[in-house]
Amino acid sequence: MKKFVHGFSEGNMGMKALLGGKGANLAEMTRIGLPVPPGFTVTTEACNEYYQHDSQLWQNVKDEIFQHLVKLEEATGKQFGNASNPLLVSVRSGAVFSMPGMMDTILNLGLNDESVIGLAKATNNERFAYDSYRRFIQMFGDVVLDVKKYKFDTILEKRKIEKNLELDVDLTPEDLKYLVEEFKKIIAREAGIQFPQDVKKQLLMAVEAVFKSWNNPRAKVYRKIHDIPEHLGTAVNVQSMVFGNMGETSGTGVAFTRNPSNGEKKLFGEFLLNAQGEDVVAGIRTPQPIEALRERMPEAYQRFINVTHLLENHYKDMQDIEFTIERGELYILQTRNGKRTTLAAINIAVEMVSEGLISQKEAIMRVEPQQLDQLLHPTFDKEELQRAEVITTGLPASSGAASGKIYFTPEDAVKASNSRERVILVRHETSPEDIEGMVASVGILTARGGMTSHAAVVARGMGKCCVAGAGELKIDEAAKTVRVREMLLKEGDYISLNGNTGEVYAGEIKTQDPQLSGNFEVFMNWADQYRKLRVRTNADTPRDTKQAKEFGAEGIGLCRTEHMFFEETRIPVVRRMILARNLGQRKKALEQLLPMQRKDFIDIFEVMGALPVTIRLLDPPLHEFLPHEEEDIIALAETMEITYHELKDIVNDLHEFNPMLGHRGCRLAVTYPEIYQMQVQAIMEAAVHMKEVKGVTVKPEIMVPLVGAFKELKYIKDIIVQTIEEVISEAGIQIEYMIGTMIEVPRAAITADEIATEAAFFSFGTNDLTQMTYGFSRDDAGSFIKEYLDKVLLEKDPFQRIDRNGVGKLMKLAVELGRKTKPDIKLGICGEHGGEPSSIEFCHLLNLDYVSCSPFRVPIARLAAAQAALRHPQ
Ligand code: PEP
Ligand code: MG
Repeated sequence: MKKFVHGFSEGNMGMKALLGGKGANLAEMTRIGLPVPPGFTVTTEACNEYYQHDSQLWQNVKDEIFQHLVKLEEATGKQFGNASNPLLVSVRSGAVFSMPGMMDTILNLGLNDESVIGLAKATNNERFAYDSYRRFIQMFGDVVLDVKKYKFDTILEKRKIEKNLELDVDLTPEDLKYLVEEFKKIIAREAGIQFPQDVKKQLLMAVEAVFKSWNNPRAKVYRKIHDIPEHLGTAVNVQSMVFGNMGETSGTGVAFTRNPSNGEKKLFGEFLLNAQGEDVVAGIRTPQPIEALRERMPEAYQRFINVTHLLENHYKDMQDIEFTIERGELYILQTRNGKRTTLAAINIAVEMVSEGLISQKEAIMRVEPQQLDQLLHPTFDKEELQRAEVITTGLPASSGAASGKIYFTPEDAVKASNSRERVILVRHETSPEDIEGMVASVGILTARGGMTSHAAVVARGMGKCCVAGAGELKIDEAAKTVRVREMLLKEGDYISLNGNTGEVYAGEIKTQDPQLSGNFEVFMNWADQYRKLRVRTNADTPRDTKQAKEFGAEGIGLCRTEHMFFEETRIPVVRRMILARNLGQRKKALEQLLPMQRKDFIDIFEVMGALPVTIRLLDPPLHEFLPHEEEDIIALAETMEITYHELKDIVNDLHEFNPMLGHRGCRLAVTYPEIYQMQVQAIMEAAVHMKEVKGVTVKPEIMVPLVGAFKELKYIKDIIVQTIEEVISEAGIQIEYMIGTMIEVPRAAITADEIATEAAFFSFGTNDLTQMTYGFSRDDAGSFIKEYLDKVLLEKDPFQRIDRNGVGKLMKLAVELGRKTKPDIKLGICGEHGGEPSSIEFCHLLNLDYVSCSPFRVPIARLAAAQAALRHPQ
């Protein structure tokens, strides 16, 4: 019979899929002899089985749970629900991938009207017992019975005001007993059931609640952002409680073995004296730095330090450890690989290699390629920063710089962001319900909470700038204002956050591009040693080209020439070319464009030097270059010596119902070959210039877009070759070149063997290929794709990540057919997918020569290509 429950002493760290991350690590720590309170894990398989049993716990699993409960009683010498020495447990979720704050936790389970008396007796602390009980009822109410947390808080606050008390710890046992009774009434009123006194029932209800929380909306959102599959399910960990709130020799804390913001090799953590774990994580009270523990409890501190070293060496990664000290005794409640900023991830990976802890290959696999985005993003403009006014300072919870308008609720943040505003979310503290608001914001500012609070952990994971625990903020959520000493800020006012220093500024501050150095260089150079794919860039200006080269681009995979046509000085000439009444007039306009294009290419060749440059000939439909508004047409007619009606007729003639499938790409050149002739002449003359004047040999790669048939390409290629020969014979020097095509029409992929007879290279234009394979318009799909994602009809937007089963099959076919005709055909990709890690992995599997992506994604592509090569050695 399948086993659905495992004791902590029965598992190990290799059993993550079954026990979840938390369960596997608790088992591992138990195995290596660390002080872990005993417990057991209900498996992820049980969670999936639960959903197949119509969301009901079945008899076998209940029996297994109770058998393990008996063992737990034996191990602790306590009894569940006992009136003199009761066993209490925590019930926590634990998915395969950590989802911080996303799933629900219940502490102190096992308390009822009788066992609370037992707990008071056993601990000789009535206040503690009733405090635990009222916390438990509140958590149970919130997590299991769906009673809003604030309903309990309101009663608690009311009691404090009545008794003129400032802090929760000032509440007396009598106050707490009163609260227990009031809390039970809230449950009866709100949930329509009596608070369960049967402790076994409590446990089963809690296990079910954890299973259910796998499918709560915030967990779903988190999974979507982090690409965690829906079918994994969560495990449930039931662990005997230890208490950090048993007085001045007790406490609880969280520590990272290295600094999660910058990677510095120094223990980094916080603890709260006389408190329970949730107080730290939820950011309800602002904790003290871990060093303070050294003075308070030197022995426990030293033991903890030893454990941190042991765990880091054991897991060979930076650990995020939760611990509790109960009357001087240290217990470890959790360890996991710590979340970190990209800066920290790179520093830690590089340093662990030099410490001999991990290999270069392991280091490369430690950084998520997409995470590099964080490093590549702007920081504040230094001059503007000097003039800016710091209004308050909080904790530097997550690096980066953000400037935007303040909003006080996640709903308002989402709304504002939908209207394209840059939002800073300002909250007392965040909770998992705020997740969508956080996603919508560029930065997050909280008044309470520490470096391990929800806001800090989640923002860091998202790579968002966050300043936490800025205690001077007086937020009035109802009035939508925040007061900082004398200053009153209203919703929509600008502020700026520095996530590296914790400073908060009034107003907007300009940002500037980042600079990369140090360990980043070292790390990226390692990645470069292992990757098989070359990484090029999509760039059509010298500025972008330069930026991409600095990020490590090894050439240009796509230079779109249409952007050059749109430039202010060119557009009148381009329009004259389009409005030409005959070939002579058109050629005259093209002659004017020629020197401008030549200069464009020279500028780009100068930046790229001998690196390869693929230039794509004109692609968009011509109507895009003409005005459409009435007044603009009138104005243009005046400057073009053409009547308004003639111009209007031309605009109407060029109108297409389906321009994406219309007169564009190489189809333009079938009608107007002289356009491509001019472009090719400009390219080749630029290459001649480079050779003669700069002494640099460039070998242009001329790319024809939107080819669907071999005859189309042949027709255009003949024109191109003739033009090239004219330039070469005129110059009297030899210039090498390549002529190739994009594969972006499904027919081209299917007939790639024929097309390869005329093409020296293929570059997959997966934007159009996706559009035409799915029949999803690139311009319109945004309006409905979200529905497809929500209903899981699509796992991922196919315009972001290659749809391997559909578009991917066409690519594979094209690669095979192309290579069959021409084994050495050069193959690359230049659609947006060229900068997306999973698509890059797919390109590696197809054995393409290169990927090409926008400049800021070049480092991401380099790393993703290295990881693909390490994952799939050929
Ligand atoms: C493509 O279609 O993938 C491509 C790169 O071309 P464009 O985006 O310019 O249509
Ligand atoms: Mg295209």
